[in-house]
Amino acid sequence: MLADKEQQASIDGLNQRFKATRVNGRLRIEVAPGTEVGTIGTPLLTKVAVDGQVDQILGGTLPVETGVELPFADAVKALADAYSNDDALEPTPSAACGDCQFKATAWPVPGEPRSGFHECWSQKFGWQEEDFAQGTVLDLWYFTGKTKLIAKGVLKPSQVGMEDLGFDGQPTGLAGMTRKHRQWYVCHPDWPGGGEFFFDKAGFLDASSKWKFPLHCIDFETSAVAIPFVKGRRPYEMTAFQFSHHIIAEDGRIEHRSQWICTEPGVDPNVGFVRALKDALTGDEGTIFRWAMHENTVLNQLRAQMLRDPQAPTDLAELIAFIEHITVRQGEDKARIVGARNMIDLCEIAEKFYFHPFTKGSTSLKKVLPALMRSSPFLRDAYGGLTYGGPGMSLNFEQPVAWWQIKDGEVVDPYRLLPPVFEDVSVQELEAAEAGLSELREGGAAMAAYGRLQFENMSQTQRGAITNALLRYCELDTLAMVMAIQTWMSLGRSEQC
Ligand code: SF4
Repeated sequence: MLADKEQQASIDGLNQRFKATRVNGRLRIEVAPGTEVGTIGTPLLTKVAVDGQVDQILGGTLPVETGVELPFADAVKALADAYSNDDALEPTPSAACGDCQFKATAWPVPGEPRSGFHECWSQKFGWQEEDFAQGTVLDLWYFTGKTKLIAKGVLKPSQVGMEDLGFDGQPTGLAGMTRKHRQWYVCHPDWPGGGEFFFDKAGFLDASSKWKFPLHCIDFETSAVAIPFVKGRRPYEMTAFQFSHHIIAEDGRIEHRSQWICTEPGVDPNVGFVRALKDALTGDEGTIFRWAMHENTVLNQLRAQMLRDPQAPTDLAELIAFIEHITVRQGEDKARIVGARNMIDLCEIAEKFYFHPFTKGSTSLKKVLPALMRSSPFLRDAYGGLTYGGPGMSLNFEQPVAWWQIKDGEVVDPYRLLPPVFEDVSVQELEAAEAGLSELREGGAAMAAYGRLQFENMSQTQRGAITNALLRYCELDTLAMVMAIQTWMSLGRSEQC
């Protein structure tokens, strides 16, 4: 039985009838009393025949140990026997070790839980603690040939050659770094100019010369769950319940200009979200920034929802025109349709023009921000004191905050300076929401908080505390984008870069 994305929920509050929770570490679903076939409306599950796939699995083979591939049934028996006899199988390291479930972050010291990953690689390759400290090819960002590298004995980044990556060693042009450049720099820190990090000043200045002030940084919080919260929504359909919006003025002044949140149980926030975003962004034609594709994807999905909604809002035409103005989408003929004020992707800017080895090549904002923090004198000077907060600058931090702080000789990740995020949301709920959704892990906390706010059995105090935490967290998301732009602009002005 699979969720049928074509079906619409015919009742409100269906999601709230199935509460995910953990009991003794195991996921459990608590079903609300009175939940029966007759009370849940249109069925959202559909039967899908998978006989073909099952036959394929049963008729296939499985690797059991290096060089031992057995028919499915024999392989299952061999694995079951090994498990019952507590026999360790010979490890078969591959790219899968990157997501090994039995992995400690560092070489385990006596008395700490064992680390299967460290045991496997030590047994197979004779590695000692100092080998692990040099990193593994598993860290290579966006590289699909890890299993091949491991098979040929290339295990550490420093052992990777240009031919392994298919990298031709060409210098970066105005278009900036390719993924190959970034992978190469993870293995060999020989970027042009040397130094702590690489910044492609010419490329950045060329790209940023087209930006118009005031610059707008936006970030959305969304939820896309299997069981809809409100009537009319489909399984996994997008719910956009919050945005944050910072601006950078031409004179360098920054302001958390606007924000919006709707977590009221049973209220579909989507149309209100687009309307509020339109109000926030239509006062000028300044460049709008997002980090990665998410904001573009969300707006396109909301556009499609509104266009097929039988009870369309009265301002539908204006809302659709606004979305089309600031997004890129695919037309019916698959051609790209680019809005006149299409949002700029800062993640792409980071990918092309900024590389810090601390990020291991990643362009996730949660990785880039700490790297910027540790290396930018601009951020140290601008945020090292109690400089951010209060009316006119922040909507949620009434008291000034010093976002640049040092602890134990290291710059603290600003996200760790927020009070324990969502202290009112239990770890169990976060885990339940994040299970199987690794691509959404970074937004998992907000998504879990939204899910919980849809359950009505919560005091106004708890509701207020979670909403406040969401607002602060999202404000920091757009402030982090501001910090990235400020750092790169300061590097663009610097004579030393
Ligand atoms: S490290 Fe983990 S994934 Fe890799 S072989 Fe060992 S148990 Fe399997």
